[in-house]
Amino acid sequence: MKLLFILMVLCAFAFYCRAQNKKESFLPYTGSDLGLTWSPKQSIFRIWAPTASKAQLKLYSQSFGGEPLQTIGLTKSKQGTWTATLPGNYLGTYYTFRIEYKGQWLNEVADPYAKAVGTNGKRAMIVDLKKTNPKGWENDHSPQLKSPTDAIIYELHIRDASIAANSGIINKGKFTGLTETGTKNNENFSTGLDHLTQLGVTHIHLLPFFDYNSVDESDTLKAQYNWGYDPLNYNTPEGSYASNTTDGNVRIKEFKQLIKTFHENGLSVVMDAVYNHTALTGESNFNQLVPGYYYRQTKDGKFSNATACGNETASEKAMMRKFMLESVLYWVNEYHVDGFRFDLMGVHDIETMNIISAALHKIKPGILLYGEGWTAGASTLPDSLRALKKNAAKLNAIAVFSDDIRDGIKGSVFDAADKGFASGKDGMEESIKFGIAAACKHPQIDYSKVNYSKAPYAKEPGSTITYTECHDNNTLWDKLSISAATATVKERIEMHKLALSIVLTSQGISFLHAGTEFLRNKKGIENSFASPDSINAIDWSLKTKNIAVFTYVQQLIQLRKAHPAFRLQTAAQIKDNILFFDTPPGIIGYQLNGVTVKDSWKEIQVWFNGNGEEKEIPALKINGFKTVIVNNIFVTSSSLEKLILKPYSCIVLYKE
Ligand code: CA
Repeated sequence: MKLLFILMVLCAFAFYCRAQNKKESFLPYTGSDLGLTWSPKQSIFRIWAPTASKAQLKLYSQSFGGEPLQTIGLTKSKQGTWTATLPGNYLGTYYTFRIEYKGQWLNEVADPYAKAVGTNGKRAMIVDLKKTNPKGWENDHSPQLKSPTDAIIYELHIRDASIAANSGIINKGKFTGLTETGTKNNENFSTGLDHLTQLGVTHIHLLPFFDYNSVDESDTLKAQYNWGYDPLNYNTPEGSYASNTTDGNVRIKEFKQLIKTFHENGLSVVMDAVYNHTALTGESNFNQLVPGYYYRQTKDGKFSNATACGNETASEKAMMRKFMLESVLYWVNEYHVDGFRFDLMGVHDIETMNIISAALHKIKPGILLYGEGWTAGASTLPDSLRALKKNAAKLNAIAVFSDDIRDGIKGSVFDAADKGFASGKDGMEESIKFGIAAACKHPQIDYSKVNYSKAPYAKEPGSTITYTECHDNNTLWDKLSISAATATVKERIEMHKLALSIVLTSQGISFLHAGTEFLRNKKGIENSFASPDSINAIDWSLKTKNIAVFTYVQQLIQLRKAHPAFRLQTAAQIKDNILFFDTPPGIIGYQLNGVTVKDSWKEIQVWFNGNGEEKEIPALKINGFKTVIVNNIFVTSSSLEKLILKPYSCIVLYKE
């Protein structure tokens, strides 16, 4: 079935390429064997390099340095490809390619289609992927996801999770560190994997784990750090997270072990995918094989730069689109990943994203896809064609991050001093309501007062990521510390709890930044992409210090999981089942009808007070309701005589 589907995808792609060929100056390749096809009997190599006049393959015994064992001329083949077949078993050999272009030999580069690489990704490696499977891999099963709105995502950097001395984890900073169980901090609270399962989130979104460029894998003891948004080799894991960077098998096996362990613990894995640019521009693998092809260019022939990283890929071109499609399918088929978060998705064209979504949903119906519906600069491809937030309704089963609710809750990420609803800023009510409705159309929202979007953009609630904090910008706790500096620590804790109450009761797909459940800070550093561990590491003593906040977030997650009314699946359900009350400034109250989604609670009321003062709401509306959250604390069900909201607080009531 899977094979049949892959064939269908390839046929559709071949058809597409024929159509596309009219627009492009040379033939795209329609086969599925780019890179290496290995067996114990022979190794077949194929690269697409239509503008090359010559092409070579070099074989090495080591991952870097030394002279080549052999240099082999590639033979020109169909549709712009070059190929070589080497009889014999080349397992463990490293290899590179180079081409001659306009009379000059370009740089030697690793195979862009490489599935294994050596240290620092300079050379591809011939491996037997079957031998990289951990024990029991054939029985690995992903947790089921029925609706995208059932997902509660936790965004985590592999190194951050375990590198602190108080993580209690042995394999610090490594893939395998997240496979350890029974790990504790100094006060005996769970850390690492056990902490994630204890918290109750469903999806672990791992910051880039493909092979990225910025960390020197040849010296992993050296003080160095990066988030990893600088892709080098797309189809193999990062070496610095592995116990051995030279042997390309090890990183593959250890990462598969992580995925298998997560799956066994009921956790799905989301891959942070960065197809929008490459770390290197002129010198990249792509560009050294087909100069200029894979990137958008400005009219004056410069690299267009919508990513602010020096280049932007051209997903609308046949071979870049093919590369992205084959790459995501490979990560699902070979590694069993359960979702993708597309970095600067607004760089990619809508058509490519929908082709990818259709292909991925066919092989994994519960796959979770989302991305940043924006860019970091101007692109040469028109806005109307790109996967921007404002075009979200044109994206099929791919969600976009809602910066509307993100900044509505805590204030603009571009102005450190700016406050949001949860820290007492006036006039943010409609932005919060926009987020509660997950950017779906709702008749009671005044869109003219929403901070960023003046119209609803989501087709369904599953099209929206509801969040207030991610790896970018200040952590929520730092943001509150800076913008609400005059508030007491106790008040800021209430603001923080209110902010997460809004995220986890609102419609859409919930998304949390690692450590927010115990007030993680980065010492006020807002862009920590290359900051040391002292800024980025998760300090597990915070779990002890802020255990009450942790418990509250854990309970919010349980509440969300127990009640489908918080996880409505269609825009029509949102329009029909959410009723906002008329409320004074700084107060939001709404009723959720649970009956139509068979919730055990027939009616739910959610109240938020973003004011710094206590507010009383006339009590008649709460007759017959029981309490579940009163002023940011979970309470056993009882009735309330009066609805009194303390400063920066949340109340949730229900009727059975
Ligand atoms: Ca690397």
